[in-house]
Amino acid sequence: MDPVLALAMFALGLAFGSFLNVCIYRLPRGMSTIAPGSACPQCKAPIRFYDNVPILSWLILRGRCRNCRSWISPRYLVVELLTGLLFLACYQHFGFALATVKYCTLGFLLLGLIFTDAETQLLPDKMTLTGLAFGLVFSLLVPVNDLVSQLLPGMISLPAFSTSWRWLSLLDGLTGAVVGASFIYGAGAIYLRARGVEGMGFGDVKLMAMVGAFLGVRLTIFTIFAGSIAGSLFGVWTLTAVWFKRTHRRMTRNHESGREARRRAWGSANIAMRHFPMPFGVFLGGVAMIALFFGNQFLRWYWRLL
Ligand SMILES: [Zn+2]
Repeated sequence: MDPVLALAMFALGLAFGSFLNVCIYRLPRGMSTIAPGSACPQCKAPIRFYDNVPILSWLILRGRCRNCRSWISPRYLVVELLTGLLFLACYQHFGFALATVKYCTLGFLLLGLIFTDAETQLLPDKMTLTGLAFGLVFSLLVPVNDLVSQLLPGMISLPAFSTSWRWLSLLDGLTGAVVGASFIYGAGAIYLRARGVEGMGFGDVKLMAMVGAFLGVRLTIFTIFAGSIAGSLFGVWTLTAVWFKRTHRRMTRNHESGREARRRAWGSANIAMRHFPMPFGVFLGGVAMIALFFGNQFLRWYWRLL
């Protein structure tokens, strides 16, 4: 790893992270990400270029607007730092190669989607659908290297042009996108039937189409399964926390017996959870981020176990 290039990648990541913060705030609000320039969300005062330096400005101003002193979310700092680290990690993992550009793009989009979903429960089309297009284009430049292209030529005779790795890679990306989208669409329909509320929306469907185009079928299925497990654990943990809190409140405030308080709190916690918006995009995006770096290693290890 070249230290100068590594530093340059980190700095580039910080700059992209700064732009990503603009996207996270503006895209769900239907605003342009280009014009006007950055402004304080409270007093609308334009942010000067010297107050727009990634990480440093936030630390120097101690998370406050220079004009109105209102609080600026630490998310700005966190997203910049994470994007910087992402770019550095991609360079360290994939080297000075086109693959680094591809995985920086995917990671950038995933970070944007994770934070937008956490803040607004929305996954903007401008991130997911643009990402899907990028993923398919990148499949022609960096091999997706998935099962489908290895299995298909043996089963059916493909026309001569498709023996090029680029077409096979595109096929891998397309299959990944279709499988990812259909899986989430199906899971969403089952969830809706089982719980009577929408758990996964079209945003998640498009998110997994994007991940599929970048990573292919195998890692997409891995992402869906691991993401569902992470989401379920989070759901159980939240339900338990709400239940305990409400039991405690009923016992101290209403002086109910322990048994009665637990029973009533369980009922009310379940009703509250039914309307709790599960941030599935956060879990799917988070696991896809891990799969980007370690998914193939994990799958190889897993096949060896079988
Ligand atoms: Zn302000």
